[in-house]
Amino acid sequence: MMPFPSSDGPTLSLVIPCYNEQMVLHTLRERLSTVCDKLQHETVEIILINDGSKDTTWPLIQEWARQDKRVTAINLSRNYGHQIALTAGLTYAQGVRILILDADLQDPPELLPAMLDLMESEKADVVYGQRQTRQGERFFKCMSARLFYRLIDALSDTPLPANVGDFRLISRRVADHLSAMPEQARYIRGMTSWVGFKQVPFPYERQPRHAGETKYPLRKMLHFAADAITGFSVIPLRVASYLGALFGVIGLFLLIYVLGSWLMGETVQGWTSLMVVVLVIGSVQLLCLGVFGEYLGRLYMESKRRPLYLIDEVVTCADVSS
Ligand code: UDP
Ligand code: MG
Repeated sequence: MMPFPSSDGPTLSLVIPCYNEQMVLHTLRERLSTVCDKLQHETVEIILINDGSKDTTWPLIQEWARQDKRVTAINLSRNYGHQIALTAGLTYAQGVRILILDADLQDPPELLPAMLDLMESEKADVVYGQRQTRQGERFFKCMSARLFYRLIDALSDTPLPANVGDFRLISRRVADHLSAMPEQARYIRGMTSWVGFKQVPFPYERQPRHAGETKYPLRKMLHFAADAITGFSVIPLRVASYLGALFGVIGLFLLIYVLGSWLMGETVQGWTSLMVVVLVIGSVQLLCLGVFGEYLGRLYMESKRRPLYLIDEVVTCADVSS
């Protein structure tokens, strides 16, 4: 299904997943048009993926595609989530270089020329946006993001730079490698790091969302974090053995203490301590079972080998003229 880049194909693709983004599309269109008009040496294509929006996003995107020959509008059959929508767009993108962008204008499209220059001068395969500040985001989001990046960096063998989202410019070959990765649980920024080649940071100020609400409530954030951790590390699976060893040692000391008390004729009263030990060990066992379950569930989902997404319709300018 993967389209092959032809010699007269686009030199630059912009891939933008959209979910209930009717409030920002107008401004997005204006700002993207201004940026793209200035890029005289590039043939640009804009790929907009509608991820099962419930508002007027799809009609708006369709209209944009019919009026602008640079735009390809893809309608997924339902809401699959940000990372899958992005995957669909990457599979369709034909450009020699590909920019991944959010629809909400948190990552300013005006930075594109500078990113292109950096990729050129550094001869890099990936230029990833690294945010310096998080304007307009709540304290909870900042703290949870910081904790998340610490944790994932400590656990993963692949270096995963902090404060880096999906806003990045990638080369054709990196996009091809990403599309060739079959996994269902997709953590695109991690997968891009995993690919390797030369990757350079591009510091920028992340803006507040232009309009509308974040599409990442706490439930989705936790799921996303679990995908990232289980996708890039098996260390949590080993935690069970570490805890087993730790509690074994503690148990040994307790045994010595209990035997000692018995020899010295002191009866051990110990209901409280017994309860504490039972409860702690019980909860640790359940926790470890939960971790195993998390990996097992993912293994099960992967083993089904379902397609990552289904496409309902693709609309381009050509559909109008025919
Ligand atoms: N998005 C999507 N499907 C979803 C959730 C989000 O395609 O199920 C898109 C959304 O339209 C936006 C991008 O993913 O373009 C990032 O989402 P959002 O800005 O809400 O996340 P945040 O920046 O708050 O982390
Ligand atoms: Mg956003």
